[in-house]
Amino acid sequence: MPSYEVAGHVVDHPPFFACRKHKALLRMNRAFVEEMLAWAPELQPQNLTEVAASALGGDDKAFLTSDYLIPPKVSIFNPRKVQGHGSLPFLIVFIDKRFFGIPASYLRRRFFEGCTDCQAENDPTSDASFPDYKPPAPPPPKPRTQAVPGAAKPVTKSLAPPKDGPPGTPGPAPRPPAGAPPQRKTGAIPKPGAAPPQTGTRSIPKKPPAPSYDVPPVEREPPPR
Ligand SMILES: [Zn+2]
Repeated sequence: MPSYEVAGHVVDHPPFFACRKHKALLRMNRAFVEEMLAWAPELQPQNLTEVAASALGGDDKAFLTSDYLIPPKVSIFNPRKVQGHGSLPFLIVFIDKRFFGIPASYLRRRFFEGCTDCQAENDPTSDASFPDYKPPAPPPPKPRTQAVPGAAKPVTKSLAPPKDGPPGTPGPAPRPPAGAPPQRKTGAIPKPGAAPPQTGTRSIPKKPPAPSYDVPPVEREPPPR
């Protein structure tokens, strides 16, 4: 590995990988290295600024290095032609004096070695569970789904009107009015004398309190006053 020492610190530029299960450092295996080299003649080395341009939305300064540096020309290894942002190199490796940029979805178990525990498990299915990157689904379908709930709202509204009939709307519609009515009922009972006018102005559903007035007010009004 192209590591070097700076004031007693070992510096490695490329990220190294370890298997999650055993925390063992991994190396690329022969099959992967030879596959990359086999593709090399067909790959056009590119400046990473150019490679990233497709993902920067016109911000051509974001991936620009200082004029002091000669940016490496990188061959993007993407034989399966992964599309969109998934084609951006996650890792750059230097093999036989050539830079290869490797998209993240290519970094799979079958291309690594170095963990004897993983080799002993010999679990070929772990790669199968990780499919190639595919660009996210287009947004257009979302508005359509929103339109559906919008249609549902009118339905609920149509259900709301039949509040008078309690059996018709057992769901949420009857509950909101139910919260207010109890107050009116309690208010009506303690205020047999002077209460009647106030409750009448406050309560929107005047219909329910009205019947209660007719019965008690006549008998109870005389005692308080
Ligand atoms: Zn392992």
